[in-house]
Amino acid sequence: MTIAARLLDVIDDDILPLTERGVGAGNKVFGAAILRKSDLSLVIAGTNDETDNPLLHGEINTLNQFYGLPDRPPTSELVFLTTHEPCTLCMSAITWAGFDNYYYFYSHEDSRDSFAIPHDLVILKELFGLEPGGYRRTNAFWTAYSIPELIESEDEPLRGELRARQQRIRDRYQTLSDQYQESKGDNDIPLS
Ligand SMILES: [Zn+2]
Repeated sequence: MTIAARLLDVIDDDILPLTERGVGAGNKVFGAAILRKSDLSLVIAGTNDETDNPLLHGEINTLNQFYGLPDRPPTSELVFLTTHEPCTLCMSAITWAGFDNYYYFYSHEDSRDSFAIPHDLVILKELFGLEPGGYRRTNAFWTAYSIPELIESEDEPLRGELRARQQRIRDRYQTLSDQYQESKGDNDIPLS
């Protein structure tokens, strides 16, 4: 199994069930997971909990739960999976935690255009003067990988199978996004 195929499994089977519950409680659609590099087995999955605390983005909530585990591998041995390209808060948290990678399913542009959540790009522009795509996806700390780009680099017939799975996952997220947008008028998340 390739890493792209495995990461789609984890989004579908481990993250999305948590996110469906989270969105039901008024939270955003963002989730994350941590896997072992050695065999791509799951260490932990998590989802956004901003109704509890606006800093509990999917990635931060997952990291907090990871650091609550009694016995955890060093981050140098782990893969960080995030459903949406991280905001600057989460990007920094991944850096400070010592990961040398992250893999994302949706881009910042997708978050703005398909999810009506433009804050990642607005913060990059307002705080750092960066246009979309302007941060360094390869740097001294880590490399960021786009899962859709990995899917496109696979050979057929796997590429076709993964594209179909990608579309099914997108459909699940579209339903959740509609649900969140309908409910968000009732929450007090500062950047909803
Ligand atoms: Zn974030």
